[in-house]
Amino acid sequence: MDRKHFLRHTATAAIGSAFFINGCQSQKNKTEIKADISKTYKWKMVTTWPPNFPVLGEACQLFSDWVYKMSMGQMSIKVYGAGELIPGLEVFDAVSSGAAEMGNGAAYYWAGKSPATQFFAAVPFGMNAQQMNAWIYCGGGIELWKELYQKFGLIAFPAGNTTMQMGGWFNKEIKSIDDFKGLKMRMPGLGGKVLAKAGGTAVLSSGSEIYTNLERGVIDATEWIGPYHDYIMGFHKIAKYYYSPGWHEPGSVLENMFNLKAFNDLPEHLQIILETASARMNLWVISEFEAKNNEYLNKIKEEKNVQLRTFTPETLQKLRQYTDEVLSEIALADPFTQKVYDSFNEFRSNIKNWATYSEKLYHNL
Ligand code: CA
Repeated sequence: MDRKHFLRHTATAAIGSAFFINGCQSQKNKTEIKADISKTYKWKMVTTWPPNFPVLGEACQLFSDWVYKMSMGQMSIKVYGAGELIPGLEVFDAVSSGAAEMGNGAAYYWAGKSPATQFFAAVPFGMNAQQMNAWIYCGGGIELWKELYQKFGLIAFPAGNTTMQMGGWFNKEIKSIDDFKGLKMRMPGLGGKVLAKAGGTAVLSSGSEIYTNLERGVIDATEWIGPYHDYIMGFHKIAKYYYSPGWHEPGSVLENMFNLKAFNDLPEHLQIILETASARMNLWVISEFEAKNNEYLNKIKEEKNVQLRTFTPETLQKLRQYTDEVLSEIALADPFTQKVYDSFNEFRSNIKNWATYSEKLYHNL
């Protein structure tokens, strides 16, 4: 049936055994849904990424295309890069107020609204992409995320993951935790708080300033994302050592956030399309990062001036200890953050135990 023919009718669809990503609950009984498909929706999506930013920005455009096709043109979403409609860090407020119906970013940008947001993006020594998906979709995470965002008139779904990031670019070797003392490093969020406990100074630089700041010695070191994005930034031209692992961002979740009223006012089939397209976006971003990071790590390895290094187990152990202190401090200061931290922590302990018997052994083969 083409859309023209479709529009003459009010659609009645029978959905059997539909799988809803919300909380991993499946709906086993057939449900009759009636939906008015004559009304069209034109939405704005504001994002925290520069226009057409590799992977993250591209994914927003793909999402928009999928939604348009899945809804047979009933819903169109125009994507705006950071600065095109509003600055990137105003996405939360713009979607919360309804100035834009939806946005894309990472929840740790909104730590100023609630420290708990950070658990829905990344915490140092947290979980990897696969484990974050398990906690959010099937381990109680999304229910807590909804409870938190509801207070701001929002609802969010996972829409990507940067996967394991790299530990950063340095011009001196980091042989022990003491080498962080006095180090000025671009390191946002909780990672920055951990760095401060190690005696370093966390410097906030926006993406566009990092290269110049590192080149001019305003900062001694920087983290960014992973080999693909780091290579595009050109850090291999001005830094000697490229360290792994990205202990501070082992699996940063990206989010699609929606104005709750705008979302609730949609017919049910469009709500399901938005949820489903967000899940596809999540899968695409993870897959694209894995494929591209692998390709670009090889390019970086070919650079004669760059040496790949790993942090020593003792250094990581100490950073982990400082992380536990930082997390306990932010949880103690806010009851809802404590609730999210408890859920996150319990899930992390259990899934690490499972990983010891599964992925960890397999990766050592
Ligand atoms: Ca990063």
